[in-house]
Amino acid sequence: MNRRKFIQNTALSGLGLTVGASALANGVALPHSNTEFNPDNYPLVIATWEAERAVATAWKTLEKGGSALDAIEKGCNVEEEDPANSSVGLGGLPDREGIVTLDACVMDDKGNYGSVVFMQNIVQAISVARKVMDETPHVLLAGKGAEEFAVSQGFKPQNLLTEKSKKAWEEWKIKSEYKPIINIENHDTIGMLAMDKDGNLSGGCTTSGLAFKMHGRVGDSPIIGSGLFVDNEVGAATATGLGEEVLKTVGSFLIVELMRQGRSPQQACEDAIARIMDKQKDRKDFQVGYIAVNKKGEIGAYSIHEGFSYQLYQKGKNENIKPGFYLK
Ligand code: ASP
Repeated sequence: MNRRKFIQNTALSGLGLTVGASALANGVALPHSNTEFNPDNYPLVIATWEAERAVATAWKTLEKGGSALDAIEKGCNVEEEDPANSSVGLGGLPDREGIVTLDACVMDDKGNYGSVVFMQNIVQAISVARKVMDETPHVLLAGKGAEEFAVSQGFKPQNLLTEKSKKAWEEWKIKSEYKPIINIENHDTIGMLAMDKDGNLSGGCTTSGLAFKMHGRVGDSPIIGSGLFVDNEVGAATATGLGEEVLKTVGSFLIVELMRQGRSPQQACEDAIARIMDKQKDRKDFQVGYIAVNKKGEIGAYSIHEGFSYQLYQKGKNENIKPGFYLK
């Protein structure tokens, strides 16, 4: 947000008006209560699960005055490049054919978005998504096309299936039973939201998706509005867990829109989980977790089951937080 907008928003909130700057520019008065800044709260970075190293890496960029988007990319790369992580990048568990396919996206403070889906052989999926955003007239590249584009941008193709993930797949094949495992399955997928020193927001999400999924399956993580949504006037949200349920309720967009209407990030995350569960009354066998941040730098998080956590780096402190959950 530049100084002009800052002044415009400050003046509006001083008058007790809660109307978003972009909404005003369009001549439409949308309810909007999250534009007041609280510089004490940022920079900050949050990420799904126990992403301690990833947020510490992102923080280094933010601390030096770098952009939220640079912080997100560098932070997510840490998880993608670690072969020990089993649901993202190198070493991610493969689909039922034994092939590792990656989904990732980024969204910046100007509303730009870039994404890769069903991409193989390239570790840094989040960086390829950023290149799609920065270097192409498109927002989403899939499969072979995404891989070829990555190679044309200098990314090195390599086999993403490690000995460990190959072994896990071979063991899975004996029964060939498809059953996502709550929490265990998702705990390396990284959804990350950052706010830079000026209070500008960006987000990223990167994953190898559900283990032993059907070949060709794409989840919520790379899809705008589902796995990630950022509106720099309001806030940002990202998801982890069973992507099919997040996609059906367009979860991250829902959270940002609820914040636009005045909900706190916490209330918005709880409402988005309730929206899923209202439609899935008889099911208790899957996990979804959301994290969100608003323009004031307030944070919210919620999940269906216990076991979800998020990593927060703010005011020089890196901590893992266990939010509340729906199924007590
Ligand atoms: N949401 C991701 C997907 O469905 C998985 C995850 O969070 O681990 O692909």
